[in-house]
Amino acid sequence: MDLNTIAGIRGAHRREPWRPGDAWLGGGTYLFSEPQPHLRRLVDLSRMGWEPLTHRADGSLEIAATCTIAQLARFGRRSPAAAAPLFEQCCRAFLASFKIWNMATVGGNLCNALPAGPMISLTAALDGSCLLLAQDGATREVKAADFVRGEGAKDLAEGELLRSVTLPARALGCRTAFRQVSLYGLGRSAALVIGTLDPVDGSLAVTVTAATTRPFRLWFPLPPTAAHLRAAVDSAVSAAEWFDDIHGLPEWRRHMGLRLAEEVRRELTGTGPLEGAR
Ligand SMILES: Cc1cc2nc3c(=O)[nH]c(=O)nc-3n(C[C@H](O)[C@H](O)[C@H](O)COP(=O)(O)OP(=O)(O)OC[C@H]3O[C@@H](n4cnc5c(N)ncnc54)[C@H](O)[C@@H]3O)c2cc1C
Repeated sequence: MDLNTIAGIRGAHRREPWRPGDAWLGGGTYLFSEPQPHLRRLVDLSRMGWEPLTHRADGSLEIAATCTIAQLARFGRRSPAAAAPLFEQCCRAFLASFKIWNMATVGGNLCNALPAGPMISLTAALDGSCLLLAQDGATREVKAADFVRGEGAKDLAEGELLRSVTLPARALGCRTAFRQVSLYGLGRSAALVIGTLDPVDGSLAVTVTAATTRPFRLWFPLPPTAAHLRAAVDSAVSAAEWFDDIHGLPEWRRHMGLRLAEEVRRELTGTGPLEGAR
């Protein structure tokens, strides 16, 4: 849609002071989907020329904020990493067509901070670290699981830029299990749970997203029992943090979050499927 309060657009490569009413423009798939009456100018990241995906010498993978969903999915199909199947699984968890895939960026998805943000699920589950650049040039890092603080709320100051997310080599080497559920076919994710089993030390991480207002990554030095996992999820997520909107009631999301967590635990520990599991 037309954003009729926008008076200007500038390329982010041109250094200019940040002004009230400025916003970073990633792929624009959210920004142009509804009125933005508080915005006056867009600062376009699309011509920054950042390499979408970069392997580092230590085996980690840096995903530029401007990497599109389509680029990430293509990369995942070719990658030999044990955790690579998660890339496309998370891309397909978008309630979106290929047109959105080709424009929407990983950074835009994180900065939108929707509970059903599948790039949040992916980067939180794989222990990603966000690199943030402030207007004064200062940089800082924050874990992807901590970057999103609630529905639409993120750890980002005015004018601060999400530059990239780095996934450590250790997480990329994990065996993974993925579960996602929606209230209706092809609907927005109501619960998305990812398990990662580290072959180096046998530790298990279970990350609950979409069902909750923010990501919850629970790490266990050894795979927990079903009862231990359930108790850990229930003590981490307060009643108010089970998300409530038209895509699912909090009670149902809690039920599905716990159920999917148990399904990924069973898949990764070879305990056999839950009765009635898909
Ligand atoms: C049909 C349709 C279906 C969708 N389905 C989903 C879905 O299932 N799940 C979901 O989460 N979203 C969904 N969306 C919303 C949106 O498309 C996605 O969140 C997308 O990933 C946003 O990325 P973008 O690059 O287009 O962000 P933009 O629209 O460009 O930006 C989104 C927000 O992030 C800020 N921003 C962007 N990049 C940066 C950066 N590098 N640093 C700091 N701030 C930045 C912008 O200022 C803006 O506030 C959907 C949208 C449509 C139209």
